[in-house]
Amino acid sequence: MNVDTHCPYCSLQCGMTLKPAAEEGGLDVLERTGFDVNRGALCGKGRTAPAVLDSAARLTGPLVRDDRDDPAAPLRPASWPDALDRVAAGLARAQDAHGPDAVGVFGGGGLTNEKAYALGKFARIVLGTSQIDYNGRFCMSSAAAAGTRAFGLDRGLPFPLADIPRTGCVVLVGANPAETMPPALRYFTELRANGGTLVVVDPRRTRTAEQADLHLAPRPGTDLALALGLLHLVIAEGRTDDDFIAARTTGWADARATAMAHWPELVERITGVPVPQLRRAVELFCTPESAMVLTARGPEQQAKGTDTVGAWIDLCLATGRAGRPYSGYGCLTGQGNGQGGREHGQKADQLPGYRLLTDPDARRHVAAVWGVDPDTLPGPGRSAYELLDALGAPGPDGVRALLLMGSNPVVSAPRAAHVERRIRSLDFLAVADVVLSETAALADVVLPVTQWAEETGTLTNLEGRVLLRRRAVDPPPGVRGDLDVLRGLAERLAPARAAGFPAAAEEVFAELRRASAGGKADYSGITYERIEAEDGVFWPCPEDGEPTPRMFLDRFATPDGRARFAGVQHRPAAEETDADYPVWLTTGRVLAHYQSGAQTRRVDELNAAAPGPFVQMHPQLAARVGADEGDPVAVLSRRGRAVAPARISAAIRPDTVFMPFHWPGAGRANTLTNPALDPVSRMPEFKVCAVRVERAGE
Ligand code: SF4
Repeated sequence: MNVDTHCPYCSLQCGMTLKPAAEEGGLDVLERTGFDVNRGALCGKGRTAPAVLDSAARLTGPLVRDDRDDPAAPLRPASWPDALDRVAAGLARAQDAHGPDAVGVFGGGGLTNEKAYALGKFARIVLGTSQIDYNGRFCMSSAAAAGTRAFGLDRGLPFPLADIPRTGCVVLVGANPAETMPPALRYFTELRANGGTLVVVDPRRTRTAEQADLHLAPRPGTDLALALGLLHLVIAEGRTDDDFIAARTTGWADARATAMAHWPELVERITGVPVPQLRRAVELFCTPESAMVLTARGPEQQAKGTDTVGAWIDLCLATGRAGRPYSGYGCLTGQGNGQGGREHGQKADQLPGYRLLTDPDARRHVAAVWGVDPDTLPGPGRSAYELLDALGAPGPDGVRALLLMGSNPVVSAPRAAHVERRIRSLDFLAVADVVLSETAALADVVLPVTQWAEETGTLTNLEGRVLLRRRAVDPPPGVRGDLDVLRGLAERLAPARAAGFPAAAEEVFAELRRASAGGKADYSGITYERIEAEDGVFWPCPEDGEPTPRMFLDRFATPDGRARFAGVQHRPAAEETDADYPVWLTTGRVLAHYQSGAQTRRVDELNAAAPGPFVQMHPQLAARVGADEGDPVAVLSRRGRAVAPARISAAIRPDTVFMPFHWPGAGRANTLTNPALDPVSRMPEFKVCAVRVERAGE
């Protein structure tokens, strides 16, 4: 029987139909043209996703290591009861010796809503630890923080993707959908076909930038100054929307003063973007009746990411391009459930429904749903990098044991060699994954879990639309669902609470709806039946209300209904170039791979398309280094060294190199990246650090 479902990878959550293949147990991917987000189009990652289901690398039974102190001790097969006993014992041992916060939990933005919810609940009422966070902190947390600060609520896109072709101009800041989510490119193509314009801000001339009407290529880490420079010109040219500012915002005086201090010539010096290009961008953005700014990881993955996004939101507010049809600010979330993953309680500071752990009313509400005393709920814990940095640390603040689901920080975390050392120093590590990722390979217990097409559950795409992934095939024998794993651990660690951890996703979702009711991300009116009938339901959707495709049209979600200007100052990157490290490094993605590559590196077709890391560099820099195309070059930062072949291209600034981060080993880009954290979002500065480039071996 054919099954309609969604891709396991990025936040576009393309619809697809899975059909049993001729060979037993296999699946073919068919176009599902009725799902309006992608209308049948898929990128190579989605089209080949079934290959991971029956990959030779697939884990089909638990693995255990008998001696953590012996690096030569191999992982060996074990039974599920033995593996779960060992995980429960490893976590309990750490807590008995060092207290509840000696155990950490690390989740992922690819987990379904049900898993994210259950993992947060498990951490707080079974383990009683405050030490839980997830890899979504490394994804769009700065946009979430800036959106919350400005609008009182963060939903990646506060409007449907279908609004993009109907606006007059889109400014895409640090986003490359042509490679990260190719089916989304049609929205921008349609925009231009309708007479609208596309402005792309990126230090590289990416495949997306090639299609733009205007490409601005600022120095990495200067997007905030760029936004202030544009706002300065908006003010100087009399293009502000004074009625909108007066009626729907607060904080304009400070924001105006800050922007006026960033005159165009100064901004040109900071960003490297010529003044005429700044003027042209303002003209394109301000001339039509409606316009949008969409950000992705470029401005967000900075140690000033929240303020950088805030400055771009200020540009929208000053021109009346927010809270109006076909206008506004939005974030192109990255991971498959990057949106839902941050709403249901696996974030260090949050409870389900986007509630804050520090809010007494929120604690009471969620505790009542969970059947516990609110005073027993732990407080906020460490953010993702801070949690990883505390692993294995001696003393009362150290995290000695870790349960990890759906993440591969050995490849994806900043300053990855250090993070790897911290993981190796743990007393105990348990990892639930589908393949033996680089992080799972370091575990004491590896729990093999089901994949997308083998399970049912909900995800929330970048539009805030809750979607249903449906089970299309049986998992291999020996594999269990993550919810089943949590249930098994709860039975061992807190038997009286085990009944609160059903293995059936729909049961978990029913409880999630109650826990989210009345919260900012209210799912109480969303059911599996409704998702099926409507092919997705936009939150907030209260029990007695309707879905909300477009937000903020009447009021923003702040107490007074007004949006808040950020009024932020430009500041340099946490690490600047100097004589020893004279080149900027920025990192990102390539078309064929997803995140740490744990899944996509197992697919032959994708490996053939993108077999390994590379260093993209301008011909001028290549000449200085003495590197020809394909020569191995070493990139060195204050945190380590990575080696990969040179890819020489005039599509990047001469002062900048780019490395994709999908690979482990010698070419691991995150060996180099800077874990300097944004003070609000706690986002590390993946997108900019200072490096030196040499021919390898010198
Ligand atoms: Fe999957 Fe994203 Fe590709 Fe769509 S664009 S097929 S959701 S990886």
